[in-house]
Amino acid sequence: MLKSHEKFNSKTGKRQILIVDDEKVNRELLGFITQDEFDALYAENGQEALDIMKENSEFLSLVLLDLKMPVLDGFEVMKTMKSVEELSRIPIIVLTSDEGAEVECLRLGASDFIIKPFNVPEVIKARMMKTIELYEDRTIIQSTERDDMTGLFNKDYFFRYAEQFDRFHSDMDMDAISLDINHFHLINELYGRRTGDDVLIHLADYLKDLREKTNCIVSRIEADKFYIYAPSGLLDYETVSDEINSHFEDFRDIYVRVRSGVYLDADKTIDIERRFDRAVQASNTIKENYAQPVAYYDAAIHERKIFEDRLLNEVDDAMASGQFSISFQPKFNVEADEPVLASAEALVRWQHPQLGQISPGIFIPLLEKNGLIQKLDFHIWEQVMEIRGRWKKETGYELPVSVNVSRMDLYSPNLIDHLDEILSKNGLDRGKLYLEITESAYTEDAAQIVAVVGRLRSEGFKIEMDDFGTGYSSLNMLADIPVDVLKLDMRFVQNLNSNDKQEKLIRLVMDIAKYLGMAVVAEGVETGDQVEFLKSVGCQLIQGYYFSKPLPAEEFAKYVEKLSVK
Ligand code: C2E
Ligand code: CA
Ligand code: CA
Repeated sequence: MLKSHEKFNSKTGKRQILIVDDEKVNRELLGFITQDEFDALYAENGQEALDIMKENSEFLSLVLLDLKMPVLDGFEVMKTMKSVEELSRIPIIVLTSDEGAEVECLRLGASDFIIKPFNVPEVIKARMMKTIELYEDRTIIQSTERDDMTGLFNKDYFFRYAEQFDRFHSDMDMDAISLDINHFHLINELYGRRTGDDVLIHLADYLKDLREKTNCIVSRIEADKFYIYAPSGLLDYETVSDEINSHFEDFRDIYVRVRSGVYLDADKTIDIERRFDRAVQASNTIKENYAQPVAYYDAAIHERKIFEDRLLNEVDDAMASGQFSISFQPKFNVEADEPVLASAEALVRWQHPQLGQISPGIFIPLLEKNGLIQKLDFHIWEQVMEIRGRWKKETGYELPVSVNVSRMDLYSPNLIDHLDEILSKNGLDRGKLYLEITESAYTEDAAQIVAVVGRLRSEGFKIEMDDFGTGYSSLNMLADIPVDVLKLDMRFVQNLNSNDKQEKLIRLVMDIAKYLGMAVVAEGVETGDQVEFLKSVGCQLIQGYYFSKPLPAEEFAKYVEKLSVK
């Protein structure tokens, strides 16, 4: 099988043609004219032609056929081709000096003529392409083939080409592989786009080598995403990953690591695009796990995808039927001896009628990925403000509350209007609403996010940088970022007992915050020891199970009432 696969030359992407002419000079001339675009096979007479065709019927894109030949002439060849199913799909262009043969040839199934002697190569090639085009998927010829920067196939062409390849190799097992560079956006940001481009070109160079060596099909899909379509069993993907790492070893001291998702023996009954989606899904499972460079698509991923699709489909109904509720978790100021309730964080809960309670850790990232988060967040904030409005009416006191804001929310043009509307409707202050924006939001599209957040802040909203320490904001950047409060990522606190490196890190963050004049909240605080340590390093605010789990609104109201009685 692999032998025939080599004949459909996936290295060059050239189609295979058969040139049939009893005169050597004609064969050579046509071969020469077409060598850039095609890989040619040759036959000296009709019988030889039929033999070659039978052997290569799957792979032949076109036959150039002389009429007058010994043994078996062109007319007989056409008659036979017409009657044999596997040959009847191969287009024929007749080579003739006798224009009178036209009708008979058309009747026998020829598509076009080339008149001998062959004098205008461009015309010959154009006619050949036109004929092939009529027989093949048009898109593969019409789309531009290559990605300008790397010279690899571009996305469209790659998919059309892979489909075509499948058509010619229906019983060959194939793997779909996706490749990404970890934190590519950071490379761009730290070293500049030009260097980022060079990294991509350098990776493409490796892939071109791989293509030469193995006959796989490679492509740059977009940005730092590359796809490989390879015959199964040919490559060891861990080795490929290692090779790429060493390929970058001496590359300008830039640390480059790729991540790959592999869908082995891809199911050919589903669209080629979806086969590669599965490779990407596998790759997504190791996005934050740099120790594992390769992940394989498997049943578990498949199940999860089905589960996720279900959640995505149901989210609208769930909003309409009130399945989302809000829990509140208190934040305490611990500067004085007695902790004082300072504010609360609003956290969404999804109570699903069949699936029970679903963690926001599951559905929030999903909605973020699919662009649906904005709608849910607006819906949540509305509920939060309504509840707060009620509390304010009942107690006369407005407790500051933070809500979580996804990166996508910040792109909404009516963000401020919407916040204002729900605040004023419920008689609430801008200054008592904290917006928790995760640190990684700032690293992904820094300039834009910093601008939006700056505006929110200058309009009077308070900004809290969530999960601080997980993103990669540099000190420099921090000074420019408009933030009121740093919220230390939970992992710092939770690893506290395990080593004193964590202690040092927390002290460092406290120093930075002090220097920048920001308050610090520690979250995920569960024990008295943690509280004592955090107090001792000057952390003002604490949130966590130590004080309380997130509580449903009514319970939280009672909790607050009890505090004030004490
Ligand atoms: P987050 O903003 O970092 O929220 C803190 C998470 O830690 C919450 O999980 C909270 O219940 C949990 N937690 C609080 N104290 C402790 C503790 O002492 N120990 C431990 N182990 N965990 C603690 P939750 O509620 O499951 O939320 C998960 C994430 O989902 C949140 O992380 C936030 O990123 C996102 N999220 C929650 N609600 C919303 C929302 O309304 N909108 C958006 N966009 N995201 C939300
Ligand atoms: Ca948060
Ligand atoms: Ca957090």
